[in-house]
Amino acid sequence: MTRARVLLLTAALGPLDYRVPQGSDAPLGSVVVAPLGPRRMGGVVWEDESFGAPEPVGDNRLRNLFEIVDVPPIPAALRRLVEWTSDYYLSPPGSVLRMVLPGAAFADARRPIVEYRATGELPARMTPQRSVAMDAIGTRQGTVRELAALASVSEAVVRGLVNTGALDAVEVSADAPWPEPDPGFAPPDLSDEQAAAAEQLRAAVAAARFETLLLDGVTGSGKTEVYMEAIAAAVAAGQQALVLLPEIALTEPMLTRFAARFGCEPVPWHSGLRSTERRRAWHAIASGEAKIIVGARSALFLPYANLGIITVDEAHETSFKQEDGVHYHARDVAVMRGHFEGVPVVLASATPALESLAMVEAGRYRHISLPARYGGATLPDLAAIDMRRDPPDRGKWLAPPLVDALADRLGKGEQSLLFLNRRGFAPLTLCRTCGHRIQCPNCTAWMVEHRLVHRLACHHCGHVMPPPRLCPECDDEDSLVACGPGVERVADEVALRFPEARTAIVTSDTLWSPAKAAEFVANVEEGLVDIIIGTQLVTKGYHFPNLTLVGVVDADLGLDGGDLRASERTFQQIAQVAGRAGRGAKPGEVLIQTRVPDAPVMAALVANDRDGFYAAEAASRRRAGAPPYGRFAALIISSEDVEVARGVAQRLGQKAPVADGLAVYGPAPAPLAMLRGRHRFRLLLHAPRSFDLQGTIREWVGSIDWPAKARLAIDVDPYSFV
Ligand SMILES: [Zn+2]
Ligand SMILES: [Zn+2]
Repeated sequence: MTRARVLLLTAALGPLDYRVPQGSDAPLGSVVVAPLGPRRMGGVVWEDESFGAPEPVGDNRLRNLFEIVDVPPIPAALRRLVEWTSDYYLSPPGSVLRMVLPGAAFADARRPIVEYRATGELPARMTPQRSVAMDAIGTRQGTVRELAALASVSEAVVRGLVNTGALDAVEVSADAPWPEPDPGFAPPDLSDEQAAAAEQLRAAVAAARFETLLLDGVTGSGKTEVYMEAIAAAVAAGQQALVLLPEIALTEPMLTRFAARFGCEPVPWHSGLRSTERRRAWHAIASGEAKIIVGARSALFLPYANLGIITVDEAHETSFKQEDGVHYHARDVAVMRGHFEGVPVVLASATPALESLAMVEAGRYRHISLPARYGGATLPDLAAIDMRRDPPDRGKWLAPPLVDALADRLGKGEQSLLFLNRRGFAPLTLCRTCGHRIQCPNCTAWMVEHRLVHRLACHHCGHVMPPPRLCPECDDEDSLVACGPGVERVADEVALRFPEARTAIVTSDTLWSPAKAAEFVANVEEGLVDIIIGTQLVTKGYHFPNLTLVGVVDADLGLDGGDLRASERTFQQIAQVAGRAGRGAKPGEVLIQTRVPDAPVMAALVANDRDGFYAAEAASRRRAGAPPYGRFAALIISSEDVEVARGVAQRLGQKAPVADGLAVYGPAPAPLAMLRGRHRFRLLLHAPRSFDLQGTIREWVGSIDWPAKARLAIDVDPYSFV
């Protein structure tokens, strides 16, 4: 009889033993469907000795596997990555495995799926719901479930529209082949510096062993063209190449750039894919047919058949850190994947994370730098506007020197960008009569006004409400006022000052799909936009040659809040957004509005003294034992019942581990004391680099009984401290 130890797709259990049905074969890594109680559940055949090698179950108690799925086995290197991720981030291995095996893995790639799209006919009987659905669906196509979700209506409404003939069925084949990228399709014209860097990366691909390379080039130096040469080398050798991007909105322009270089678009992987697209991509990745994959962080866990290189673009971006479920950092996991696969990992950035620079200094990463902008373009001039000396008019947000600079660019027919990392119209709505502030009922957070859609919205839980006419506290009429600016309010000011200017607001509210992002890029490139007003979404990736002015509306915004990386983030964000200016023949100018022009980070930006800034920041982190010279981990205990959460946090606090060099802070209410209706308490651990933080935490949380109503989230190497 053959048995198999299976890791199932559930967070609740470790590996379980099963019987392999007679006549079947289930080698290590096989994807299977197994019985679990009354349910069917997917899983992977795993080594007996993993996960502490639990005692085998007696033959007589084994149940038969239902099915061995006809897909390539999950390779050993990826099984090791699942184990490492689970171990390092203290997450159940079944939760990590879900990223390897999304539902798409179990769908038969040969069976066509039916999707629906609008026929142009409207139903004879139009209900309000049907009308909403037809508007939302527009020209899009998807399964009944996807269209229902898109339009926020029930699936019955969508099926009703199918029955009336307003939507029409389309059969989508999920195993349509992907076009083959051609490494020699359109090789770029590289500068000498780029060519030298590309040669190093190509050699690393040819060496076919693990190495981490930090591709460190100023904005506009042509890093993408350089790492594309390494990808071309991998593809020419018949291997797969993975490129991770920080934002889904950046995927579409990136697909176009790849198409221009390789003659066809790469295979995308992100949460915005339809289920048919996801199924097609997953199977092509697992079979090795997909050669170049451009994806969000979740692409890191896919079962590549023959990976040759991993590239993390904009590797300093904090959005690579996953903040729910498995709290992993995609940059760090990418390096581990390269280690297990035995392939090079390229981290590309103009403003590398201090963590990456420290690894270069320690001799662990190879440093490849591109110090000049491509094609002779020069770096922009940066200057600070001291908001204490040169304040904006009352109720306005743009200081006179910035307004003058905008007028100058409008006169010359050049484009400008105003950067403010705040969505919506105003971050706070306040009652002038009684001082009441409108807060989210589910979170410790203000409701943010979004005037374009006439809503107040919570950016933490998504709760929305219409703006009240009366103060909810004192019932006074017309007493509510908007406090502080968001991008919509800055856009209002621009419209008031320059009624003739054509503006575009760029946030995750306006660029919510890759198609919207592509439309925005096309509009700017065709000169249909004079002034862009945007959040961090516009700080990276875009290349607009006619954009010559960048205004940072509030450079101090990121400095409040006690985040240990506040200065580094501010430096990176402003350097990145500054990098959007003067990328073509015309020089760029950057004006930074700040109340603290003498703060080291502002002084370093204005002096273009990157090395000086990093050296000072590194020294101060070293003194504080902060990352990368020390480590943190956060434990967040939450419950809908505040007393349950507090009680567990206190019991945990009483059993806090004591060890040399280890500090435990808390328990205390988390800065975001309530989130999505759950009360949160936090314990923070701070330890030297060499300390076994994971082992300590594992033992500690196992030392108390956990009531069912309390939940624990563990964040190893946290980036968010709320
Ligand atoms: Zn009031
Ligand atoms: Zn909320």
